[in-house]
Amino acid sequence: MAGLNTRLAADGRLLGHFPYPEAPAASLVTFASGLELREEAARQLLAMQRAAAADGVQLTVISAFRSLALQRHLFFVVGAERNQSPEERARVSAPPGFSEHSTGFAVDLGDGRSPQTNLSTSFETTDAYAWLKANAVRFHFRLSFPAQNRQGVSYEPWHWRFEGSTEALRLFEPAHRLSRNLP
Ligand SMILES: [Zn+2]
Repeated sequence: MAGLNTRLAADGRLLGHFPYPEAPAASLVTFASGLELREEAARQLLAMQRAAAADGVQLTVISAFRSLALQRHLFFVVGAERNQSPEERARVSAPPGFSEHSTGFAVDLGDGRSPQTNLSTSFETTDAYAWLKANAVRFHFRLSFPAQNRQGVSYEPWHWRFEGSTEALRLFEPAHRLSRNLP
């Protein structure tokens, strides 16, 4: 499959995913029940939810920061339960140490009025997705895995990363460069 490398690529990617460090615990804030992000990302996300609500759109947060331990479970245990090879699993979930969620700067978003589209490509048909396409950039959020992305990761219209701080920009620069096809 194009773009999906089965060994560590020269740019450090594993199965298409770039390496990311786990956010230091002290850098995380709990912004909703069971959900943590870096402080600035949380602040902007809450502002984005309020702006969406003012436009009649119900943006919900499905997942935010995920620890290495949780990512390990999602990749290896859930992958095994679903009878997936590492290559198959990596199209829908990053290996531990290679998830944007571990940075505390990435979220999975849903439409509160169409929960059946959660974590499905059909999320792209919702009012929430249309609103995000038009407005997320004002809150420094960018779609990480558009259709046919150069990382070879499955299209994830629900997964958005925060790029509104120097540290976030630095962490996501390799992914950004690849998406622009720069050397
Ligand atoms: Zn995600």
